[in-house]
Order: sequence, then C-alpha cells, then structure tokens
Amino acid sequence: MTRKLRDRTYATFEGGEGDPSLGGVCKGLLSEQRSSWPELGQAYDSLVATRYRDIACNGFSVRLLFNPGRAVNTTAVVSPEEVRERPCFLCAANLPVEQKCVLYRREFLILVNPRPVVPLHLTIAHLDHHPQAITGHMEIFLRIAADLGPGFITLYNGPRCGASAPDHLHFQAVPSGQMPIEREIDGRKGFTPVVPRTRTADVPVLRVAGLGREVILIEADDAPSMASAFRVYARGLAEASVPPGGPGEEPMLNAAASFDGKTWRLLVFPRRAHRPEAFYRNGDGRVLVSPAVMEMAGIIVTPAERDFDRLDAAAIESLYREVSFTHG
Ligand SMILES: [Zn+2]
Repeated sequence: MTRKLRDRTYATFEGGEGDPSLGGVCKGLLSEQRSSWPELGQAYDSLVATRYRDIACNGFSVRLLFNPGRAVNTTAVVSPEEVRERPCFLCAANLPVEQKCVLYRREFLILVNPRPVVPLHLTIAHLDHHPQAITGHMEIFLRIAADLGPGFITLYNGPRCGASAPDHLHFQAVPSGQMPIEREIDGRKGFTPVVPRTRTADVPVLRVAGLGREVILIEADDAPSMASAFRVYARGLAEASVPPGGPGEEPMLNAAASFDGKTWRLLVFPRRAHRPEAFYRNGDGRVLVSPAVMEMAGIIVTPAERDFDRLDAAAIESLYREVSFTHG
C-alpha cells in the first residue's frame, strides 16, 4: 500500500473470521466523513429536503425523487472524447483530499458518494484504472453484496447506460428496501425461463413479467454457478442486441445484487438506449431523466423540479419502453 493510500484508509476489510461487519464499518465511514468533510456533510444534510412522489403505473410503481444537488450527474460527461480529457475522479490519486476509504479485500476502495441520492450511498471503485465491465467481475460483485449483508443492495451501471465513470470499474451500494422493485419481485409469481437450465448448470435465469420493462432474475446459493449463468445470459443478450461498441463489448445492462444470508438475488435490466428521446429535446419538452440502475429499479431521480411535478404514469411507462430491451 502506498503512503498516500494508507493516509486515506479509514479501515481495511479482509473478510476474516470475527471481523466487524462490512455494513457497520461503512456506516462508521459515513459518520467520519460527515464530520471531517464539510461539503460532504452538507450534501447528506441536504437530503432531508428531498421530495418524493409515488406514481402507480400499469402493474408496477415508481418513486420520483427530487434533489437539486444531483443535477450535475444527470448531465455527466460520458462521451469517449470527453472522458479521455478529464482526470478520472475514481482513481485514488485524484480523489478529494478529504475523502477516506475502506480498503476492501485489497482490491476496491469503498467511498462515501459525495453526491448522494439516499442517506447512505457508497461508491465502490477498483484500485486500478480499468474499464467498467461486469462480465468478468460478477463473482466479486456478488462477494461485495454478501459482505455488505442483507441490509444493502449492490448496484452496477454499464459503461453506456448510466455509469458516470465508464473508464473506471466501480459499483455502488445503498441500503436495501427502498427501491419499489424489491417489493414487487417478492410478491410476484409466474416467472418464465429465459435460458434453458441445461445451459446454466441448473441455475434458473428468469423473466419477471408485468413490470413495464424487461427484468431478469437469477437466484442461487452458489455464487460461481450464478456468475456463470449470468454470463450465458449476457452472451445471448450481446448476440441479440449488438452492443453499441461493436462485437466484444458487453451488452448494455444494469444490475443489482443482494444477499439474504444464504441466497443471492441478481436482477438484470437489459437496455437498448442510455437516455430517452425526450432527454435530447430542446426547450420545455426536455425531460432531464437519465436512467441508470436506480431508475430501472423504480427510483427515478428528477434533477429538474418541473419533471418531478409533471411526469405521470404514461410518461414513465413510455420511458421504460424506450430504454429497456427485451431479448427473445
Ligand atoms: Zn480511474
């Protein structure tokens, strides 16, 4: 570990027997950062002013969330040219001097997100600067979900559908139970297989119907089998959707993983578009919603107050249809 990294390390987590829980350590990190880093403290304090509006759509619901402090992320710079020209804000060398981390299994830095959507919002950035991709990192994604435990849900945005740093591998985590889809999956029946079990070592890859967008569910007690089932599904998706970066790039998708102490649950949201057409309109018709994993899970961040006030069920249903991709 470099001296600089040591100076920023609030705690290390190696997953040893008897170690404090990772979730507890991360809550401690948030407390430390709120008191030692005034701008971050203000960002979290400002969340008490967040406004919510629940909208019942056809067969599902969403929660709109208005927090003016997030506007900068919705219009984040993500084109390849722009990304090349800015210093990477997830590389340890470029982090704000106040930012502390939990060093996770010597591989990731767990950071408090300085632009939170919810009152505990973690960014989990790889120590090395390499591109955002899930296919080769599903095992560690599930490991993080298990280490954080049932109180958290771990999130992934594909490089072309919501990641604010497409050039640096990172995840997010937030407390579980806040996203409408978590409840909606629990109460639902009638899942249909998307990939034959014979191709996924008996781990079912299921479609959850009736949620207004394509939702894929993979549940298992065994992370390696689950990761391999995901890869079989993702390969089929790549063939069906032709990733915008061409063959070889992962298909556009968002993912969310949770662990209840025994079983992992992975939700996958395949995508056809990063942003709805309305995002690119001029003037009053412009809708500043940029769907990433939280939006696909039912928490829709509206940085503009007029969108928070005017979006209705029909607009949400249409938005999901536009950005979601159904395969097969
Ligand atoms: Zn980086």
